[in-house]
Amino acid sequence: MENKTHIETLAVQAGYEPKNGEPRVLPICQSTTFRYTSCEELAKLFDLDESGYFYTRLGNPTIDALERKFAALEGGIGAIAFSSGQAASTALIFNLCNAGDHILSASTIYGGTYNLFAHTVKKLGVEVTFVDPKASADEIRSKVRPNTKFIFGETLSNPSVKVLDFEKFANVAREFNIPFAVDNTFPTPALCRPFDFGANLVIHSLSKYADGHASAMGGIIVDKGDFNYDNPKFPDFCTPDESYHGMVYAKKFGKFAFLVKARTHIMRDTGAILSPQNAFLINMNLETLPLRMERHSSNALKLAEFLENHPKVSWVEYPGLKSSPEKPYADKYLKACSGVLTFGPKGGAHEAEKFMNSLKLAAQVIHVADSRTSVLHPASTTHRQLSEEAQRETGILPELIRVSVGIEHIDDIIVDFKQALEK
Ligand SMILES: *Cc1c(COP(=O)(O)O)cnc(C)c1O
Repeated sequence: MENKTHIETLAVQAGYEPKNGEPRVLPICQSTTFRYTSCEELAKLFDLDESGYFYTRLGNPTIDALERKFAALEGGIGAIAFSSGQAASTALIFNLCNAGDHILSASTIYGGTYNLFAHTVKKLGVEVTFVDPKASADEIRSKVRPNTKFIFGETLSNPSVKVLDFEKFANVAREFNIPFAVDNTFPTPALCRPFDFGANLVIHSLSKYADGHASAMGGIIVDKGDFNYDNPKFPDFCTPDESYHGMVYAKKFGKFAFLVKARTHIMRDTGAILSPQNAFLINMNLETLPLRMERHSSNALKLAEFLENHPKVSWVEYPGLKSSPEKPYADKYLKACSGVLTFGPKGGAHEAEKFMNSLKLAAQVIHVADSRTSVLHPASTTHRQLSEEAQRETGILPELIRVSVGIEHIDDIIVDFKQALEK
């Protein structure tokens, strides 16, 4: 079913196919461990000569079903789920990099990923260079080093809503024979499939639109399976793993080498496993993903157009707007532009706060990307530790309001924004 079926069908049906008499709905396998009757059987599982469940940290039927569904949605060969998006990003780094290695990343990325790259892994000896995603291919190329282990970017950046020019980054990655990894959290596979545009790995925070109801946290890495890790640049894949009695991942598992190592080595050692309960919730909520993303996108476009024409608004950023410089990239890479926009009311930070405090339907929350419309004022919350100058450098203007447009009726959302702007 996986390859040619439409995404709406995969979102409902992929990953779990019950046999006669089995539950119609994916069961929650709330068990840490699994029973066997012979040492030989368990030994084969430990040697990875056979696949099967033995401990939930390394595999669980409910989590497995979610991984299979998500791999089908993105068009990958497989996936591995984590306790959060941050855990997935951390595993991506651990699976590809050692101390002394280097990562090249677009500079417009989620704040949590930025901190992980710029500060945390730096202390472990992995250096990250940030490049303006609008830089020329030559400039991006000039920042690749012999020890660069992957190139990274976000399809639609959080919170600046810029569209990544996949082709430019993918070409550089291909030229240097290094993997290109993309965070596809905001568009989701319903609106963009980065594998179609040259990405080798896709990561997600499942806590956002995938769950979509602000009910469960999770993360995932999906592998397209087209990067050959049997390559001296990646010795961990093509020389014996001493922590796994000398196994050579690229030899034994071929195109599955990345995913097997991520599970048997990185997940084994770091333990950032998704809970079966959260896998159940996310899997269920994914059934409506394509429907929800259509509504998030059409509501966001209408709200962006309303704001653009309102006399009390000085600017609006939404890649779906005809006036947006991002529009050509959105047209090229995205089916629609998802549900997040930013805008600035005239009058600066004070007016922004007054506007936000006047909203009735839209709530102030830190989270984005769920069914309810919400707003955030980064300058006074998520970015308040930074000076105004440093905020401007990261694209956060004092009056900037980030809106996560929900799936309520658009007329009700607009009525709320209108009354708050007029206050
Ligand atoms: C939220 C987010 C993350 C981090 O995910 P968590 O599930 O919160 O750990 C990573 N990337 C993007 C684009 C995000 O929006």
